[in-house]
Amino acid sequence: MRIIDELKDAKTIAVGGHIRPDGDCVGSVMGLYLYLKKEMPEAEIDIYLNKPRTIFNCIAHIENIKSDFNVNKVYDAFLVLDCSEERLGDAALIYRNARKKINIDHHISNTGCGDVSVVEPERSSTAELLYDMMNPDLIDKEIATALYIGIIHDTGVLRYSNTSPRTLQIVAELIKFGFDFPKIVEETFYERTYVQTQIMGRSVLESIRFMEDRCIVSMVSRRMMDFYRVTPKDLDGIVNHLQSVKGVDCAIFMYETGTLEYKVSMRSNGKVDVASIAMKFGGGGHVRAAGCTMNGTYHDNINNLSIEIAEQLSRAD
Ligand code: AMP
Ligand code: MN
Ligand code: MN
Repeated sequence: MRIIDELKDAKTIAVGGHIRPDGDCVGSVMGLYLYLKKEMPEAEIDIYLNKPRTIFNCIAHIENIKSDFNVNKVYDAFLVLDCSEERLGDAALIYRNARKKINIDHHISNTGCGDVSVVEPERSSTAELLYDMMNPDLIDKEIATALYIGIIHDTGVLRYSNTSPRTLQIVAELIKFGFDFPKIVEETFYERTYVQTQIMGRSVLESIRFMEDRCIVSMVSRRMMDFYRVTPKDLDGIVNHLQSVKGVDCAIFMYETGTLEYKVSMRSNGKVDVASIAMKFGGGGHVRAAGCTMNGTYHDNINNLSIEIAEQLSRAD
């Protein structure tokens, strides 16, 4: 499907993505925005997204993102990227009012929430999927940079198993535009501030292995976040770090979001399907990377997750 086929008569268009936007979400939303501006110069196009991390300021026109969702505007079309309606946050109200709802995603847990839904779980990233829905002749350096960021963030810089031959072909096409990709990888993926490094170090130090060392868990409390003066955005990457410990099949990382409420991130080497576990607790994601929000004490949450993980590991053995 080409995106333009679904937008033929649209004069007002909105593009949005999930709360706590990650690299794929920001790259996809901005890549599509820049592309539509070019393909449909007459249309009015708005972007609705929670404010992205400043590392993404290298993306052209990122300042055009609207993070005030208190609008009554009825758009001809609203494209939701990299998530389904439930993770749109306050932008969901605008989405529901849109005349045509379009959902483009790669999460296996997404059953599709649009009048038109394109959900391809075999895709590394929404950015990769979007590339194949665009007219390649219209892609320019700015669009390529945004899509490249989306792909590298969801593939851990092309090293996770979701990286396919098609992913690499697309990346090869994208880097032909000549943007400074080593700088982008360094500054958006690897570079960490001092406090981000400190809280990662503390999380690793306080992590606990269980289930014969096949699982690892760590938690950051509100008090710790206040102490280091960090926000949830500063905790990205900690769970991947835990998962890279030798012998670990499943890593869990939680941070406190409220009284008896935790945002949970899970990573697996494939033996455990963390998407199915996250879905049981109202979240979702991919087989090897998923998340959810859980209510209860930290230890109750670990217990509840452990039951599911143990069941899967015993089946996998
Ligand atoms: P995270 O652990 O937050 O980095 O998320 C890992 C993967 O699961 C990402 O692809 C997220 O988009 C997805 N994910 C995280 N939390 C949720 C949720 N509550 N519902 C659906 N998908 C989620
Ligand atoms: Mn995402
Ligand atoms: Mn994604």
